[in-house]
Amino acid sequence: MPHKHATFLLLFIVIGVVAGILSGWFWGEAMAEIAWIGKLFLNALKMLIIPLIIAAVVSGVAALGDVRRLGRIGGITVIYFLATTVIAVAIGLVMVNIIQPGNGLEFESTGLSESIAAKEGTGFSDLLLSLVTPNLVASAANTQLLPLILFAIVFSAALTTLGRVGEHVIAFFNGINEAMMKLVTWLMYFAPVGIFALVAGRLGKAGGGDAFVQEIESVGLYIVTVLSGLGLHFLVLMLILFLISGRGPGYLLGLLRALFTAFGTASSSATLPLTMECARENGVDLRAVRFVLPLGSTINMNGTALYEAVAVMFIAQAYGLDLSIGQQIIVLVTATFAAIGAAGIPEAGLVTMVIVLEAVGLPLEGIGLLLAVDWFLDRFRTSVNVWGDAVGATVLHRFLPDAEGLQPGESVELRP
Ligand code: ASP
Repeated sequence: MPHKHATFLLLFIVIGVVAGILSGWFWGEAMAEIAWIGKLFLNALKMLIIPLIIAAVVSGVAALGDVRRLGRIGGITVIYFLATTVIAVAIGLVMVNIIQPGNGLEFESTGLSESIAAKEGTGFSDLLLSLVTPNLVASAANTQLLPLILFAIVFSAALTTLGRVGEHVIAFFNGINEAMMKLVTWLMYFAPVGIFALVAGRLGKAGGGDAFVQEIESVGLYIVTVLSGLGLHFLVLMLILFLISGRGPGYLLGLLRALFTAFGTASSSATLPLTMECARENGVDLRAVRFVLPLGSTINMNGTALYEAVAVMFIAQAYGLDLSIGQQIIVLVTATFAAIGAAGIPEAGLVTMVIVLEAVGLPLEGIGLLLAVDWFLDRFRTSVNVWGDAVGATVLHRFLPDAEGLQPGESVELRP
């Protein structure tokens, strides 16, 4: 997308978010009527995800050249994902211990939703089992992205060992990838209206500004804890960007379109097409974009991990239970895995939190405390999730010996 268009678009997106908040706040119920426009935007984004992920991962892995490089690249990526997730959880634990948002809280449980109750008894083996699907088509239909990505990685690795036969197939996927990115650029022009409708519609569903304030009043300190933790982690990622990738705030500016979309959609997966487009527009090596971002959008969830740790500690405090250091370490480990297991869809973190609660023996009904405000916090943690992925792509770029990003306005040259 031309630089000038990108700047204007960002401006309109910001206006869309602000107008969405204001109109949802003051004309709540009327705004629920236009929620369908947001859904249209969301559907269009989701429509792109499956072909985009498969084509991007296949062409990204193939472009690494030698399949032996995959181990090193994969290793760096996974270390980055794990390290930043653990840092995020640690920040959450520190904040919740300092602020103690759950102490002295009086509450009534509102009961569990079916999706949460169904997660009871989920263990580590379920997480591993979810990596390999017996049915690729069913996974695609249910937007279970992780098994699709793993399949695309090994499929592409196999293609690179086939010589000329493989090259044709890789060229085919390169073409699909470029066509998908073109669609993303077109769709971006619809983002301001889409995000406006999503934000206004959701606030409208909550009953407008006054109803929303009432909802958050009882858990105000909890919201402060989550938001300040997320803010701190955002800065930590900024520091990583600066120290490891050698990039500055300009990259953040370039990614804002994706971050606002994450805020509007509350879904890292739905935002993925925009994250990829923004990262490549900002000169990140295409191999890093195609490898790190799809994988990151499903397993690297810094914001979700932080939020799960805070939420579980908050529930413990509300029940008057003091978790020992040992139990908090269990929270650290399980929140990391629960975030990895969470899908990049709205409020997925709320569901995988069951794993953490069970690990430290807390009642699942505690989740009832958080239900009313989860949709709101979800938007902030999703933006941090996407920011974590975007920074990860620059970190991998830094470790690719022959990394080279696109110049502004340059497009990809397709060579078989
Ligand atoms: N909505 C989040 C995402 O898509 C996941 C979650 O924390 O619920 O990244």
